[in-house]
Amino acid sequence: MLHVPAQSDYLPPENEIELIPFDKSEFKDILQGRFSPSEHMAFVCIDTAHCNRDMYMLEEAYQAFVSMAEAALRDSIRLTIVSATRNFEYQRMLWEDKWTGKTKVEGRKLPEWFRDAVDRALKIMEYTAPPGFTRHHWGTDIDINSVEPEYFESEEGKRVYEWLKMNAPSFGFCQTYPALDENRPEGFNEEKWHWSYAPIADELWREQVRTFTEKEISGFKGHHAVRKIDILNKYLLSIQRCGGD
Ligand SMILES: [Zn+2]
Repeated sequence: MLHVPAQSDYLPPENEIELIPFDKSEFKDILQGRFSPSEHMAFVCIDTAHCNRDMYMLEEAYQAFVSMAEAALRDSIRLTIVSATRNFEYQRMLWEDKWTGKTKVEGRKLPEWFRDAVDRALKIMEYTAPPGFTRHHWGTDIDINSVEPEYFESEEGKRVYEWLKMNAPSFGFCQTYPALDENRPEGFNEEKWHWSYAPIADELWREQVRTFTEKEISGFKGHHAVRKIDILNKYLLSIQRCGGD
């Protein structure tokens, strides 16, 4: 039988929490993206050589990315960040544009496609987390080169992904959402582009799981539907971490 961990199992050792570059009292705000990355001391603007617009990351995670990108370039692989830190407001816009049909999903408007609110939320959650629950709030998680699965089927995309699988862990980055299979039967779809800087993200993740309450699911259209979904077990816990477990 599968061992189902309790929320209280996710208490991080005190010394690991020291790695986190902001005050413990800020944890909840960072986890939920309730801050401005451009105004936060622990965040740095990503050099335009590494991204395609203004973006921010936690400094330690960014330095690790720069080292990784330089190593990749020596192997003729170019890594570009296409999405980094997104705050609550930004994620709310992404979510609500899908929820209301402003952004089409697979060419269709979701309110017409899914009358049932829970079904509509589940469709969005194939790739997009509700505001307050994306790891992109944390400054540790980035999307690399493209967020289209098709790109990773191209010759270039395959080479990039193979390189990342081989090399990213030695820079601290791991793929959070590998293919759904018996090891990861539910949660967000496979994202070959989403990589997480584990030395900090793991601690934030533990804190997120430990302190999660359903009433945090609020402040955006469709939140009542999301409350009916077991987001903790099906989406927050069903990730792959560097080194497993
Ligand atoms: Zn992502």
